[in-house]
Amino acid sequence: MTVAEIIAERKSYVPPTVLEALDWFPDASPVTILPSPDRHGYSPRACATQFPKSRGYHGDKITLLNADVRAVNDHVDDMKAKYSRQTDRPVLENIVWLHEQFILPLIELDIKWHKECVFFLDLHKKPAKTQQFDHDVQKAKTVPMGTFIEFNPAGKANCLWHSEKTPSMQYYEKDNKVHCFGCNQGGDVIDVVCILYDKEFSEAVAFLNK
Ligand SMILES: [Zn+2]
Repeated sequence: MTVAEIIAERKSYVPPTVLEALDWFPDASPVTILPSPDRHGYSPRACATQFPKSRGYHGDKITLLNADVRAVNDHVDDMKAKYSRQTDRPVLENIVWLHEQFILPLIELDIKWHKECVFFLDLHKKPAKTQQFDHDVQKAKTVPMGTFIEFNPAGKANCLWHSEKTPSMQYYEKDNKVHCFGCNQGGDVIDVVCILYDKEFSEAVAFLNK
């Protein structure tokens, strides 16, 4: 493939496979980049649930991937020195493009995935009954319910626990709680956030403390 062809193809940007990329640009990169062999199709949340003891593994991967980012950047600098002549420009441009548009985003995607796994692992940890957590829970409970639910002038809204056309879920401003007279369910703002955003208790507490 010639440089002109590559540039033409770049216009309808379809990322090359790693092997294609390395084939086009033998000088491409000192690091071996394989697209996320360990994701196995898990979302970070599912991964955290499936592998509850994988925090150290993710931490190691993040360290290695950050080293890859540095290696790639160093390599680009080397290539800039190697292809410094004016006539080398197209070659250099393509090498830079390959690294900045393709290889680095791949690594960064991996880093993001591992960081999200760590995030969910930390959330799923049984919250230590620390004073800090108790404090966060109390603080979370004070976020006004009206932030998430629109109540009518009588302080009512459609129930979150059952389906209805006439609002029967009453807001009690003093407690910052709701109670439904249709199905007898109710709760505080943490319960409401759990239901509205499909979160677990500690996630909802963290969310409300943001
Ligand atoms: Zn209800």
